[in-house]
Amino acid sequence: MPYLDPTVIREGLFFPTVGVVDSLRAGTIMRERAQEMGALEVRANTEILGIDLTDDGTAVRSVRTTSGDIETAAVAVCCGVWSPKIAKMAGATIPLIPTVHQMISVGPIPLFADTVGEIAYPIIRDMDTNMYERQHGGDIEVGSYAHRPIIVNPEENTLDRGVRAVAD
Ligand SMILES: Cc1cc2nc3c(=O)[nH]c(=O)nc-3n(C[C@H](O)[C@H](O)[C@H](O)COP(=O)(O)OP(=O)(O)OC[C@H]3O[C@@H](n4cnc5c(N)ncnc54)[C@H](O)[C@@H]3O)c2cc1C
Repeated sequence: MPYLDPTVIREGLFFPTVGVVDSLRAGTIMRERAQEMGALEVRANTEILGIDLTDDGTAVRSVRTTSGDIETAAVAVCCGVWSPKIAKMAGATIPLIPTVHQMISVGPIPLFADTVGEIAYPIIRDMDTNMYERQHGGDIEVGSYAHRPIIVNPEENTLDRGVRAVAD
């Protein structure tokens, strides 16, 4: 690792088989395959507004969205930090609390100028300082968990305050 100082970091563990996933591309491929199989209908730019229950309140009846209602008895909630809000629409609870961690992206880093793709070097995790460093294209991202827990309301636009919410 050319950007580690060996006078400070003496030893480490290297995991050569660690996975690197282009999450957007992976999601796109899964969606396309499911659509080819006729197993999925996608409604882009559609917001879930509410979940209606059966009269006795024991099951889901439909999901209300900005592109119409969807009759269904089953809902899979995969809305990241907003998932508790969606579950609450059906009176359910998802015990997920988004918390902030500090991260800064700096660059361009000359060392990364000739690398291809988003990440060519291993991600460094320094467990003593509770920090990580990773390549992101031509930049390096430095993140820290070594601060007080900062719970964030996902309804707030934290970017306006110069804070980036990273949910792990
Ligand atoms: C700056 C940053 C850097 C990160 N870096 C890394 C990294 O290097 N490695 C890593 O592993 N992770 C990283 N993460 C974390 C990673 O992005 C998340 O863990 C991951 O995206 C969570 O996936 P998800 O599908 O659960 O939720 P999300 O990707 O958050 O998707 C939730 C989706 O739900 C949608 N949604 C919310 N409410 C509604 C509604 N009412 N109706 C319809 N749709 C709704 C949202 O629009 C969104 O598309 C990073 C996060 C950030 C913010």
